[in-house]
Amino acid sequence: HADLAMYQAKESGRNTVRFFDPEMHAAVVQRVALEQDLRTALQEGQLRLFYQPQVDAQGRIVGAEALVRWSHPRRGLVSPSAFIPLAEDTGLILPLGQWVLQTACTQLARWATEPGREQLTLAVNISGRQLRQTDFVAQVLQALQQTGAPAHRLKLELTESLLLDDPEDAITKMSALKAHGVGFSLDDFGTGYSSLAYLRQLPLSQLKIDQSFVHNLVTDPRATAIVRTIVTLADSLGLNVIAEGVETQEQREHLARNGCHTCQGYLYGRPGPVEELMR
Ligand code: C2E
Ligand code: MG
Ligand code: MG
Ligand code: MG
Repeated sequence: HADLAMYQAKESGRNTVRFFDPEMHAAVVQRVALEQDLRTALQEGQLRLFYQPQVDAQGRIVGAEALVRWSHPRRGLVSPSAFIPLAEDTGLILPLGQWVLQTACTQLARWATEPGREQLTLAVNISGRQLRQTDFVAQVLQALQQTGAPAHRLKLELTESLLLDDPEDAITKMSALKAHGVGFSLDDFGTGYSSLAYLRQLPLSQLKIDQSFVHNLVTDPRATAIVRTIVTLADSLGLNVIAEGVETQEQREHLARNGCHTCQGYLYGRPGPVEELMR
C-alpha cells in the first residue's frame, strides 16, 4: 500500500529510513484529484473570466485585466493561485490559456462594437509554458482573427522571470505580435531581476508596478523611492506605467504625486463578471 511505502532520506550524513508520511500521501492524492477535476472543468466549461477595471488620472475606466476563476461544483469559486501552478506543472495551462485568450478576445471584439467602449483595452496574463510554445504567435493571431478583436486593444501580461527563461525566443515572439499591434505589460514589476540593458531590448508597452510597493507606499520611504525609480525608468524607455493593488485614496494620491496616474485595485473595483465592470 502506498502509505506504507518507504523512502530513504540522507540526513546529517547518515542514511535513515522513514515511513511515507500519511499527510504527504494525502497531499498527493488531493493533487491528483485536483488535476482530474481541472481536466473536467476545462471540458465542462467551469472556468469563468473575471474583469478588473484599470482607471486613468480622471478615474475613467480605460480598460481591464482578465483574471481567471474556477467555478467548482463543490468548492465554489476557486482563485487562480490554487490551480494555475498545478495547471503549469501538468501542461493543462495550454488548453486553459487558450480558453482565456479566446474568451478575452471575444469580449474585446464585443466592446469594439459598443458605443463608448471601443477604446477599452484588455490585459491577459500569459504563463511561461504558453509563451514557449512554438506556435504561440499563431495562436494569438488566430484568436484575434476568429473573434475580430482589435489587436491594438489587447495587452499581454508577462513576468520578468518568464522572459529571462529564454530572452531571445521571447523577444522574437513579442516583436512578431507587436508588429500586429499587440501590447505587452511587464507584470509584478520590481520583484524580478531584469537588468536595464535587457529591459531596453524588450518590445514592451507598459511596466506594471507590483502591488507590494503600492501597499508599503504610505509607510515605507523605500517603497516610494522604488515607485519613483520605476516611473522614471518607464518614462526614459517610452513606456506607460500602471500600479496594481491600489486599495486606498491615500495610495492613489501618493502614486499620482510620484508620476503614476493609471491604477488598478480594490479602490476602483474587484475582479468580477463583465456585467459588473460595465455597471
Ligand atoms: P496578477 O496578474 O499579478 O494579478 C493581480 C492579482 O491581484 C489578482 O489576483 C487580483 O485579483 C489581485 N488584486 C487586484 N487588486 C487588488 C488590491 O487592491 N488588493 C489586493 N490585495 N489584491 C488585488 P488573482 O485574480 O487571484 O490572480 C492571481 C494571479 O494568478 C495573477 O496575478 C496571475 O499571475 C495569475 N492569473 C490570473 N488569471 C490568469 C490567467 O488567465 N492566466 C494565467 N497564466 N495566470 C493567471
Ligand atoms: Mg497580471
Ligand atoms: Mg501582478
Ligand atoms: Mg502576480
